[in-house]
Amino acid sequence: MRYAVQPPEVMAVPVAGTDASFPVRRIYCVGRNYLEHIREMKESDERDPPFFFQKPRDSIVLDGQAVPYPPATDDFQFEVELVVAIGKAGRAVSKEKVLDHIFGYAVGFDMTRRDRQRESGKKGLPWEIGKSFDASAPCGQLHPVSKVGHISQGRISVSVNGETKQDSLIEKMIWNVPEIVSNLSHLYDLGEGDLIYTGTPAGVAPVVRGDKLLGKVDRLSDLGITIGARR
Ligand code: MN
Repeated sequence: MRYAVQPPEVMAVPVAGTDASFPVRRIYCVGRNYLEHIREMKESDERDPPFFFQKPRDSIVLDGQAVPYPPATDDFQFEVELVVAIGKAGRAVSKEKVLDHIFGYAVGFDMTRRDRQRESGKKGLPWEIGKSFDASAPCGQLHPVSKVGHISQGRISVSVNGETKQDSLIEKMIWNVPEIVSNLSHLYDLGEGDLIYTGTPAGVAPVVRGDKLLGKVDRLSDLGITIGARR
């Protein structure tokens, strides 16, 4: 194949304990999946169900890298999340069978232009500007199910410059992992390489240049990033 322009690079996340990498196809995120975070946002009915949105495939940032402070915001925030990686394609998969489609798990950050997100919400506009932008999806090393099993409980937390900001439990998710992946598979075809960020607990806050974020989920590698200069 001769391409008219340079083809995009494959975005890939290292698989812990191997020399293999996981090529990213799509990035999905779940909104409103922990009650205390819904309460701190004060913007929707607590009974509204979780929902999905997407980020660009090339918004991945790897452990140890910098996330530039994005343009068009003065309220750049982190959200620590458990990330599910899909290893087997599927469509309309039941909750009972969907765990077979999961390759592994990682720690991720759903980086957010909070001011732009709130603004678009109030105006009833799409919230891509708030959620789907360059370098908005840091993702730590992936841990295969064959090594760590399925993550259905345990601590999820993030610290900024050593101070804990979010600290909760995976079991507090409103939709658990099988429910998330099964629901998604009824809306989109699941493909090998899909990543799903599963929502964030309470404690989100703004960051500034030079801040060091460290995300943790029990049994997974930590995810460390630094906030860089404004782009
Ligand atoms: Mn989120």
